[in-house]
Amino acid sequence: MKGIDQRVTEFEHQLRKAGLRMTQQRRLILRVLAEADDHPDAKGIFTRAFLHDPTLSLSTVYRTMKLLETQGAIERHAFEDGVSRYEHADQQHHDHLIDVETGQVVEFSSPEIEALQAKIAAELGYEIVRHKLELYGRKLGRKGRRKPGEG
Ligand SMILES: [Zn+2]
Repeated sequence: MKGIDQRVTEFEHQLRKAGLRMTQQRRLILRVLAEADDHPDAKGIFTRAFLHDPTLSLSTVYRTMKLLETQGAIERHAFEDGVSRYEHADQQHHDHLIDVETGQVVEFSSPEIEALQAKIAAELGYEIVRHKLELYGRKLGRKGRRKPGEG
């Protein structure tokens, strides 16, 4: 896991490479992004950054995220709720389980699943370049969420 300062520096580098001028606001967005250890959407990033700079606009956040994604610095996920969520691209590979009741995103990785996927692809004559696995689940034992007549 990389340090936050190191992440900010790398994000800055990516944006400069994309030809973007580094401004105070962009630096703020990069810091908020670097600090996020969940999977925020653009509005979530905006809300966090807005606390530090009320002149910030949502479109600046969108534009910055788009460029970082194009540069491969952040990864975009489109889970079933249709909202684009982001996370740092420098992490170890992992998959996601999405809680269908709360929307919470849980990360996991499984050597067994990775091996099985590679085996299936090989049997089909392929090697895997990348994959995304999303599980949608309901937490066991959570009370008070069931509709009448269910379960
Ligand atoms: Zn993740």
